[in-house]
Amino acid sequence: MIKMFNLDNLLRDNIKRLVPYSSARDEFKGEASIFLDANENSFGSPLAKAYNRYPDPMQWKIKYKLAEIKGVPPQNIFLGNGSDEAIDILYRAFCRPGIDNVILCPPTYGMYEVSANINDVTIRKVSLAENFQLDLAALETAIDENTKMIFLCSPNNPTGNDLDREDIEAVLNNFDGIVVIDEAYINFSKQRSFIQELTEYPNLVVLQTLSKAWGLAALRLGMAFASEDIIHVFNKIKPPYNIGQATQDLVLEALEGISQVNDWIKTAVSEREKLVAELALLPVTENIYPSDANFFLMKTKDAKGIYNSLVEQGIIVRDRSKVEMCAGCLRITVGTKEENEALLNGLKSYTPVV
Ligand SMILES: *Cc1c(COP(=O)(O)O)cnc(C)c1O
Repeated sequence: MIKMFNLDNLLRDNIKRLVPYSSARDEFKGEASIFLDANENSFGSPLAKAYNRYPDPMQWKIKYKLAEIKGVPPQNIFLGNGSDEAIDILYRAFCRPGIDNVILCPPTYGMYEVSANINDVTIRKVSLAENFQLDLAALETAIDENTKMIFLCSPNNPTGNDLDREDIEAVLNNFDGIVVIDEAYINFSKQRSFIQELTEYPNLVVLQTLSKAWGLAALRLGMAFASEDIIHVFNKIKPPYNIGQATQDLVLEALEGISQVNDWIKTAVSEREKLVAELALLPVTENIYPSDANFFLMKTKDAKGIYNSLVEQGIIVRDRSKVEMCAGCLRITVGTKEENEALLNGLKSYTPVV
């Protein structure tokens, strides 16, 4: 396969032709003190802080701060209402409903499939190999002329492992559609992020989020990093004011707390190692798969029974036993020291029904 990446050929025609909504604040640039252009309430908001003005549609303050933290120019960043918004926009930009297809590598994150179904886009599944790494040969045969995107998740959810970097590079180098690398858990991994490779690969889209390591799941802020041309497409499609002012304010404040976040990452990884070592000794445990994230996949003798027994003790883990290649598996998020001890005790008190 010779790589011939051409963004224009990949985009849907309606998106190429699309004239995006132009908001009041898009049309005015410069200094002013009286804003009578957007039908806002000029008197204020019934809150301590005023939220009566529409927020910056491009969220530049956050992007400049993220540019510093990530070492990526602000023009290469898109911000969405969670990563899920970025995933949905990718489908709408590139995939003609009922015609185009995307490749997913299960077991992996469920939203790629749900979003494909919402957008009436065919899914081709190429399962991971036994070791939860990519099956490059099977990937190559699954690609046809209507394959627009390949979703890779590294570290992968629910398996927890990094995908091998050389394999990801092979996909980037040989596929001339869009390669989406979901790095929701990259902060916990020893792997380098692919966001430094944007100039190398015009077909690369990297997804990250503030929902995991950054501890901001409730604020809903997902990030996509890509070429300026691809980010331009995201900006055309997104709702004009997709990130509210309250989220923008709080995210800007939270981004100053990076040293606290880095401490938590170290703690989560060391707590994970401790917890895994102890769980490995329990009779209920069949296997714990190596993890590069803040969770791990544990194969048990009776996933359903163990899950129910934990629920009765007020402890919720994720039952993944019905997921392809995950028979008997529970996915467990690393908690605080106290929470992990409660989990261990909960599992010790589990007695199989015979
Ligand atoms: C949690 C998670 C996300 C984050 O989604 P948000 O919408 O940003 O909260 C994205 N991808 C994967 C694989 C995840 O596990």
